[in-house]
Amino acid sequence: MKEIILTGDRPTGRLHVGHYVGSLKERVKLQNSGRYDEIYIMIADAQALTDNAEHPEKVRQNIMQVALDYLACGLDPEKSTLFIQSAVPELTELTFYYMNLVTVSRVQRNPTVKAEIQMRNFEASIPVGFFCYPISQAADITAFRATAVPVGEDQLPMLEQCKEIVHKFNSVYGETLTDPKIVLPENASCLRLPGIDGKAKMSKSLGNCIYLSEEPEEIRAKVMSMFTDPNHLRVSDPGKVEGNPVFIYLEAFSRPEHFAEFLPEYSGLEELEDHYRRGGLGDVKVKKFLNQVLQVELEPIRERRKYWEQRLPEVYEILREGSRTAREKASQTLQDVRHAMRIDYFENDNLLK
Ligand code: ATP
Ligand code: MG
Repeated sequence: MKEIILTGDRPTGRLHVGHYVGSLKERVKLQNSGRYDEIYIMIADAQALTDNAEHPEKVRQNIMQVALDYLACGLDPEKSTLFIQSAVPELTELTFYYMNLVTVSRVQRNPTVKAEIQMRNFEASIPVGFFCYPISQAADITAFRATAVPVGEDQLPMLEQCKEIVHKFNSVYGETLTDPKIVLPENASCLRLPGIDGKAKMSKSLGNCIYLSEEPEEIRAKVMSMFTDPNHLRVSDPGKVEGNPVFIYLEAFSRPEHFAEFLPEYSGLEELEDHYRRGGLGDVKVKKFLNQVLQVELEPIRERRKYWEQRLPEVYEILREGSRTAREKASQTLQDVRHAMRIDYFENDNLLK
């Protein structure tokens, strides 16, 4: 069986460091591992419209931004197919058939949907399209016959829902769809990076992000303004490391080389954490170190982004070509689906028999 990756992002803003550690970094690693036969990276504009229907220009403007962030992080169009969701209308048809295999109460129980409805104040009136986006995500994953889906932890309930749809479809219509596996980052701090405001998740919609394209001075200002342990008032006070975003970011980003270069008086993160817990270590010192670490990590990404910003027509062609390739793949799966459901009426003479 072929090993295939499908994953993507909503073009609702530029990508941030949460995306990077939660999903992008893993994708680039998998891309370069040579273990995958096909890799599809989707800019989920149709999904973004489910909660931005009145602002299509916001979605449109962010398509190129997300594509630039992809290329900046090292996704390589020679190895990965970068495409735009709405350019593959087969996905919509698949969604329509899958809708019959899912109940309203099942979607309502999906914890990510629940949280997102609350976050968007949709409790009183949820757009039907938004409510159905987990089903459309199942269409995206299965259309490409993905075996691996590298995403952040918030996507776990989506994958579970997708697997249920696969099993249901296969049991009703016969073995047709491929069962996908979620690939989560190994480092627990990367599963769900909190916002600089200390909120549980860094998210474009919450405005608590450090963006991948951010200039050095902006990164520094954001790091220095970060939420830490609110009870750590004086340097001498003992501090809390657990749930402290500054330390979570250090767990996600810092490597032994960073300590050797910027904080040689500490053997590594564990020693720094112990010192903070004991008291006597100020937030400013830790934040300065985090800033140095982030500067080192983000500089090559920012530079590559600038390279591609000078070549927008090339980026446009990459997306156009990728969308064409993606459409071919999805239409094959759609044919298999129609065949399994026996609604491929004009492909055979079943109607006349
Ligand atoms: P929106 O607010 O529009 O939903 P978002 O910031 O949640 O945007 P998505 O496009 O929904 O971003 O998510 C893209 C991918 O990045 C998903 O795989 C998701 O799990 C991952 N991801 C998003 N935010 C984080 C985060 N803070 N930590 C780790 N992974 C994340
Ligand atoms: Mg999201």
